[in-house]
Amino acid sequence: MTDFGSEDSMFMRHALSLARRAMRMGEIPVGAIVVENGVAGPRIIGRGFNYREKRNDPTAHAEVMALRAAGRHRKSWQLTDCRMYVTLEPCPMCAGALVNARIRRLIFGAYDPKAGACGTLYQITNDRRLNHRMETTGGLMAEDSAALLREFFTARRKSGLAGVAACQEARSRGAKK
Ligand SMILES: [Zn+2]
Repeated sequence: MTDFGSEDSMFMRHALSLARRAMRMGEIPVGAIVVENGVAGPRIIGRGFNYREKRNDPTAHAEVMALRAAGRHRKSWQLTDCRMYVTLEPCPMCAGALVNARIRRLIFGAYDPKAGACGTLYQITNDRRLNHRMETTGGLMAEDSAALLREFFTARRKSGLAGVAACQEARSRGAKK
């Protein structure tokens, strides 16, 4: 078991809100943020969510989107002292991008038995053969992330992508009451 601090939970909640945003757009609900340790404390410098469908871009995963935003913010590809929070265990492509960005710490939510490359199928973020490794911990608010994914795939099976948006729409209206 890993102990997560309250700061970790706060940032993961932010990543989950981005995942819900993806879902409202008919995208698989995965959200990611990059957090920098600024002089005034930690702050978010990159946000991303899954954008594959809308952009017709196979690389538009939440992690890649967040890394790109953080790189633009810093005007540097090196995110050496930064952390990433992502709602789902990164796939091989994203884990590779995290290594390339020199991310210091990775915190993810649900484990991914189909594509997880940070402990499940591969250990890309902790492979001694690569030129960079990072502290990697999974399982933070995993149930919230898994519940979102289940909701998405159930809705998609029932009525396609339009159904997912409609279902989310109804859900957020219901929640506001
Ligand atoms: Zn990925």
